[in-house]
Amino acid sequence: MASYDFRAPRLFLDAPLETGGRVALDRAQANYLLNVLRLKGGDDVLVFNGRDGEWRARLAEAGRKAADLAVAERTRPQTVSPDLLYCFAPLKAARLDYMVQKAVEMGVGRLKPVFTRRTQAARVNLERMRANAIEAAEQCGVLSIPAVEPDEDFATALGRLEPERLIVFCDEDAPVANPVAALEQAGAAEKLAVIVGPEGGFDEAERALVLGHPRVVRLSLGPRILRADTAAVAVLALVQAVLGDWR
Ligand code: SAH
Repeated sequence: MASYDFRAPRLFLDAPLETGGRVALDRAQANYLLNVLRLKGGDDVLVFNGRDGEWRARLAEAGRKAADLAVAERTRPQTVSPDLLYCFAPLKAARLDYMVQKAVEMGVGRLKPVFTRRTQAARVNLERMRANAIEAAEQCGVLSIPAVEPDEDFATALGRLEPERLIVFCDEDAPVANPVAALEQAGAAEKLAVIVGPEGGFDEAERALVLGHPRVVRLSLGPRILRADTAAVAVLALVQAVLGDWR
């Protein structure tokens, strides 16, 4: 397994990281380290900014509300996230939080909310999605924060997908068939997109639109209807195992 420290607290910082650097924490970060995790001056924290890899830094406390980090040495080089685009119909609050966190843990590179005809959520809070993506990245050890892309109408978003991008289309109406075999048959793909629909499922026009893409696998996730957040984890496990970075 990865040779990194699972126990040290890991913090995303939007600041340059280099040996000898000093980063002032904002109130929320200071509160998290000092009052939630109860760290003290001199304790170690792992930090990353999505560009410079992961670094060990030492906490310099200045009261219960303010702290600096002294950046010491690099613990891991920067990695590039796979070109795995996760397109999904936004869900309501708590389930959406969950789905974003799980998608990041499962290794998606970009998150794209798409409004389909039967999407029940009226709008999506991109800032909240970003906060969830950061929290999940801190927790699971990925060194780049998956990009949260602006939400779009489903047809517009589909129209942007490059012809060579392999779409893995989770279709609740697909006949049950071995999903591993279906993905193996699709063959290697540098660029992937996974699509999961809303609580209400896809309509026929949307289905036809996806199936018109040059490279698409219409995937069944078994004989039961899964909730969208469950479908997300199930399909991403399949994709990572057959085509992605679990191999
Ligand atoms: N209300 C719909 C189900 C929607 S489930 C119905 O009753 O038919 C939400 C999304 O999860 C679906 O659009 C699909 O993308 C995915 N999903 C759920 N169960 C699935 C299954 N058995 N096979 C493939 N995709 C599934």
